[in-house]
Amino acid sequence: MESIMLPVDKKRVADLIAGLAKFGKTDAGITRLAYTSTDKAAQLWLLKQIEYLNLEVREDVLGNLFLRRPGLDPAVPPVACGSHLDTVIHGGAYDGMCGVVGALEALHMLTDETLRRSIEVIVFRAEESSRFGFATMGSKLITGKERPEKFADAGRKDDITFKEAVKEWGGNLEDYQKALLQPGAYKCFAEMHIEQGKVLEETKHQIGIVHNIAAPTRFKLHIKGMADHSGATPMGFRKDALVSAAKMILAVETAAIREKEHGTVGTVGIVEVDPGSINVVPGGVTLWVDVRGVEPESIQRTLKEIRQAAQGTARTDGITIEEEMLTSDSPVALDAAMAAQSEEICREQNKSFLHMNSGAGHDAMHMPGICPTTMLFIPCKGGISHNPAEFAENEDICAGIEVMAEILKREAQ
Ligand SMILES: [Zn+2]
Repeated sequence: MESIMLPVDKKRVADLIAGLAKFGKTDAGITRLAYTSTDKAAQLWLLKQIEYLNLEVREDVLGNLFLRRPGLDPAVPPVACGSHLDTVIHGGAYDGMCGVVGALEALHMLTDETLRRSIEVIVFRAEESSRFGFATMGSKLITGKERPEKFADAGRKDDITFKEAVKEWGGNLEDYQKALLQPGAYKCFAEMHIEQGKVLEETKHQIGIVHNIAAPTRFKLHIKGMADHSGATPMGFRKDALVSAAKMILAVETAAIREKEHGTVGTVGIVEVDPGSINVVPGGVTLWVDVRGVEPESIQRTLKEIRQAAQGTARTDGITIEEEMLTSDSPVALDAAMAAQSEEICREQNKSFLHMNSGAGHDAMHMPGICPTTMLFIPCKGGISHNPAEFAENEDICAGIEVMAEILKREAQ
């Protein structure tokens, strides 16, 4: 069959990414926090740029944006795609934006195609946790993964709450049920995103086909020893909580390394030392531990080993270690058939691809309860993201868009 798909317009893609990057630009990267006037201005600017696509524009009561290209048959569930426009504090121009701009450009490529299903580009609000402390808030709420009470009062001391921010945006958190997506609301969902890792770049692949999204288990280890005078307490008489904590940091690393074939990772990102004084043997330490993986069994083995190490360390060091669980989410498997379709498309388009998993969370991780879901990764320089140095080549973004356009076309036919 003769294809009538238009070519990707590389200049427009570059211009849209660069244009969005102006909103929230600072000397240290882009700060465009969710639900702020900067977030709104960026969205309004983008809507102005894509007026020529003649999309139906709708926002739900949470501020999620839906841009619909109507299909021939309005009775069948649309095909969905999209990502987010908010950034972290001092973030970059590509995390989220590639997926939104990419989806819109894919719609442009499909201009002359006659498709049965509508296609909707979703701009999820508050993907980043930087403003309210929770990630993927918009997608969590519309998919019913989380109830609004959990988020309502979230916010920094010097800022308005989530509930107030939704209201300021023009929505209403209390009406959130109006925004709920029912299972089957969409035929499928596809999100394109920068990898946020360096696997694609180092292995020189253009497209990452994502199979699983890792879920974090986060907990604190409260280590209690005995604070003593650092000069007057001989070595044999100490219960140094920081020394025990050091053993636990190594234990977390060892446990995760043992599971590395299964893709599990373990990190101690925060060490709080009490009293934290040069002349006091540390009496208490809190470690913040993040364990992630895509295989539940591997995550469980890692946690078990860390807990055993904690018991052993407590015994040998004569201290106590208590665990405080923060979050324990399940990894998400994306749709195998859609991944196979992406592979087929990559082969047809002569693009190199790699099957992989996502270590970071994305809006797409909440969509499998609604419809079959897939993700495409594109390379980003040095794997850097959430950083002003975040960068993706326009060529790579456009290669991803070509795959995305074909996915949308096949699913919407
Ligand atoms: Zn993102």
